[in-house]
Amino acid sequence: MHAIENVCIFGGTHGDEMSGIYLLKKWKGNPTIIKRSSFATKTLLANPEAVKLARRYCDCDLNRSFTDENLKSETVEETPYEARRAKEINSLLNSGSGPCDVLIDLHNTTANIKLCLIHNTVGDFVMHMMNYINSKLPQGVCNNICISGAKQSTFDLTSCGIGIEVGPQPQRVLRADIMDLQEKATVHSLDFLELFNTGSVFSETVVPYHVIKENVKFPRDAEGNICGVIHSRLQDNDWTPVKAADPVFTLFDGTVVLLRDVISSVIIEDDIFYPCFINEAAYYEKDTAFVITTRCQKAVAKLQKS
Ligand SMILES: [Zn+2]
Repeated sequence: MHAIENVCIFGGTHGDEMSGIYLLKKWKGNPTIIKRSSFATKTLLANPEAVKLARRYCDCDLNRSFTDENLKSETVEETPYEARRAKEINSLLNSGSGPCDVLIDLHNTTANIKLCLIHNTVGDFVMHMMNYINSKLPQGVCNNICISGAKQSTFDLTSCGIGIEVGPQPQRVLRADIMDLQEKATVHSLDFLELFNTGSVFSETVVPYHVIKENVKFPRDAEGNICGVIHSRLQDNDWTPVKAADPVFTLFDGTVVLLRDVISSVIIEDDIFYPCFINEAAYYEKDTAFVITTRCQKAVAKLQKS
């Protein structure tokens, strides 16, 4: 793989996720934190209108607006703000000093997820990056999910994009611990790219990752209203293994609902799943109560710049 020349860091893709928005302000005053000798680092406030309103988005989710269909469509009067902004960002990423090689997109979640790195490939470069970031943080803090095959952003990137998702943090709130973890993950990402560019060799290894099995919906009554709450044993226990017989919801009539009652896939008693984004505030509108993942691993070859 060739050297990395241009890196872009996005904050405020969602206008109510404060860590990325304020880290961009912080780094403007202290640019050495994100500056490295072997590549250029740019930052971009991705959704400035939503940031002004402190809302996730104005018209529609920017994160879901980078589809080929949208990027190639003609802009008309009715085109939503985020659909226009996605086109602007896509051309920005591919102009100026050259195309963006690596995109780092900063997000927050209200779920107790700690640090979750989101990537859309299990290629050796990305997986070595996941492994490096994880190795620099205390055990149990960092997990990663591959969303390949899921609905995803399609930035025109030559190499990769990663999402740095950190929580728990309420929407429109800035917490020191969450901001600090997001900054550390960003700094380690940039350090990895600098080491790669300057000839470091990353040995072959095996890197664990998660894949999404299912988004679990809220329980609803006959009129379609939510009729239960995330079970207290599941709440805040992102990444703690669950099995078919574990409780996941308590209905308002007291009934306890088990994982096997809500998952549509066929599962056996001993299958182990890893829940995440448990009770994420922004997912109520998508009717997702939590996300069920399975754990996989990828053997990666030695990595060195060609
Ligand atoms: Zn977000």
